[in-house]
Amino acid sequence: MKETRSTCPYCGVGCGVIIESKGGHITGVRGDPAHPANFGRLCSKGSTLHLTASPVMAEQTRLLQPMRRLVRGGSLQPMAWDNAMQLASQTLASIVRAHGPDALGFYVSGQLLTEDYYVFNKLAKGLLGTNNIDTNSRLCMSSAVAGYKLTLGADAPPACYDDVMHANCLFIAGSNAAYAHPILFRRIEDARAKNPNLKIIVADPRRTDTASSADLHLQLQPGTDVTLFHGMLHVMLAEGWVDTAYIAAHTEGFEALQTLVADYTPARVHEVCGITPEQLLQATRWFAGVPPHSTRNAPEPAWRTLSLYCQGLNQSSSGTAKNASLINLHLATAQIGKAGAGPFSLTGQPNAMGGREVGGLANLISAHRDMSKPEHRAEVAALWGIADVPSKPGKTAVEMFEAAADGEIKALWIACTNPAQSMPDQATVRRALERAEFVVVQEAFATAETCAFADLLLPATTWGEKEGTVTNSERRITRVRAAVPAPGQARHDWQIVVDLAARLAEEPGVTAHATPNNASSLGHLNNAPHGLHMAYTSPEEIWVEHRESTRGRDLDITGLSYAHLESTPEQWPMREGAAHGQARLYEDGVFATANGRAKFAALPYVPTAEARESRFPFSLNTGRLRDQWHGMTRTGLVGKLFGHVAEPVVQLHPDDMARLNLTEGSLVHVTSKRGSIVVPAQASSDLGAHQAFIAMHWGPAFLSGRDHQNKPLAGVNAITTSAYCPSSKQPELKHAAVKVLKAELP
Ligand code: SF4
Repeated sequence: MKETRSTCPYCGVGCGVIIESKGGHITGVRGDPAHPANFGRLCSKGSTLHLTASPVMAEQTRLLQPMRRLVRGGSLQPMAWDNAMQLASQTLASIVRAHGPDALGFYVSGQLLTEDYYVFNKLAKGLLGTNNIDTNSRLCMSSAVAGYKLTLGADAPPACYDDVMHANCLFIAGSNAAYAHPILFRRIEDARAKNPNLKIIVADPRRTDTASSADLHLQLQPGTDVTLFHGMLHVMLAEGWVDTAYIAAHTEGFEALQTLVADYTPARVHEVCGITPEQLLQATRWFAGVPPHSTRNAPEPAWRTLSLYCQGLNQSSSGTAKNASLINLHLATAQIGKAGAGPFSLTGQPNAMGGREVGGLANLISAHRDMSKPEHRAEVAALWGIADVPSKPGKTAVEMFEAAADGEIKALWIACTNPAQSMPDQATVRRALERAEFVVVQEAFATAETCAFADLLLPATTWGEKEGTVTNSERRITRVRAAVPAPGQARHDWQIVVDLAARLAEEPGVTAHATPNNASSLGHLNNAPHGLHMAYTSPEEIWVEHRESTRGRDLDITGLSYAHLESTPEQWPMREGAAHGQARLYEDGVFATANGRAKFAALPYVPTAEARESRFPFSLNTGRLRDQWHGMTRTGLVGKLFGHVAEPVVQLHPDDMARLNLTEGSLVHVTSKRGSIVVPAQASSDLGAHQAFIAMHWGPAFLSGRDHQNKPLAGVNAITTSAYCPSSKQPELKHAAVKVLKAELP
């Protein structure tokens, strides 16, 4: 029996696991008691990881050799790695020569390790000269990135998990942590047990398990969070509960916000959000630190408020405004930069944070640099030893698939993600995959939906088989380790990219952008003092280069090493000479802006992109189940994880069920302007009238649908909208206008 310490590959809590293996096979998994994210605990998903990795499962679910499809819709033919990579590089090269590098699109994943993410970005932005690389993390946290940068000056969550234990008030907005971040929720339960006076407020249109545990559930109308937050600031100002000294010393822009929120009266909050003035006052008191039964009617100096928030704020056409408006409340009350306080965005995926660190979004570049800033592009060009990094904005997730559907992008390279199920507006995504001349899918699992469109399938390694690092929601970097060898012919993601880069470098007229004669300031690390280096031989070599790129940046990890991570996961920043990383940010009141002052964002409430109307009178919400993960590629293999919820349903309020003449299990068509699915109805008083909820996980094996041309689609994303936040480009997966009609049985 061998034991290997690694990290759970599911959610952003980033729990440490100990993998048990025997004879080259994973036989068990348990929580790592030494890991500071979970101290030995695992949720239902993490504790069944080993059941997804058995040899029998691998035979049935894994891609084990490269395969090519000669004819669209035809069968797959096995091929040798060398031939597969030759086909890939030659086809990409011919497209670049004919149409330029922006005819390529790379769509990667928050499931990749930081090292994989780094080389993918260097390949696209450095070697090929296109910024058309984005990630499925765009769907889960790009609004949080935009909100932090707009207000605090850097994409850096300032708090940590331990702050849950120091808070007097937890303000949980748009997060069902009980399902989506279960081990963090265990800490919330611990905090409640330790401090019976802890106040928990949950703002969510649904009465989730998290909301059921709250002292105050603000069951607001979908998409109206900005009005709620502005209304809370309105009350704080009226009551004199803002910290004027902190605002004067550490912020700017408060006057404009003060003017804006003057109109967000309790009456308006009631009208827009459905939150009563009494509820608004109660929530505001606790957030600002005016304890129950206080006779002073003033905030307690020792009070601490911590906000935890997730997709309910992020997956919105006003996601940036929602994030920034909540951060405004922390700045106005000085609830930031101290133990138990701060705006703490939770990441959905295991390495969404690591992807941000290496610039894994179309608008970013290494170490939180901005593609839009010439000085940042010049810094990275100097690091990489190339003349420049392209300035043309890259396509973000929705834009990339729309461009492919329009014929502008000719080749799509998809790694470790399943956009033919997970992207909104599936009809457009499928048009993109059909129209693209060349679709490469680099994957561990044979995902039925996306793999069906692949011209070339490249088998990759996955959890338990690969080495590298991930970063969790609290900025903590942890090693991921291999417990067993790669199955079949699967290769590590970074190795596939390195091989592709070497072949593309030999293709005439393809990599001219990466001028080879410029000195690289990273050359001393990799024996390549001139030109772009992609010939990495290990994940550690890649990570060391990434580390050097962070020098002097907000996420500086120049004090960290793989050797250090062998014993202890650490939070960034951890600058050269530091013994440990930093648990909290902005404790000195100096923010990451040019002048060190945080900026209040005065952004008005804007309704959801699709209003409910007479033809589409329901608000559709999507979200996670407790025991399933994303498209169920792994969790769908474990029978006992269906014990909680066995099949897809659409939840509807009992009044709507009665009005539509539905009984439990009645089949209904749920239809938007983009498509329709048929699903059993389930009565639930956890959501309001004219609202509907469908879990995001169910794919074609469980929930099929059709677009308006009667073409088959899969899952709830047959009907979701690709409308997105103009700042973060994150799509509004939390709201679409739909109609619900009883299905007539033949
Ligand atoms: Fe894995 Fe998240 Fe569960 Fe931890 S809480 S075991 S990281 S799924």
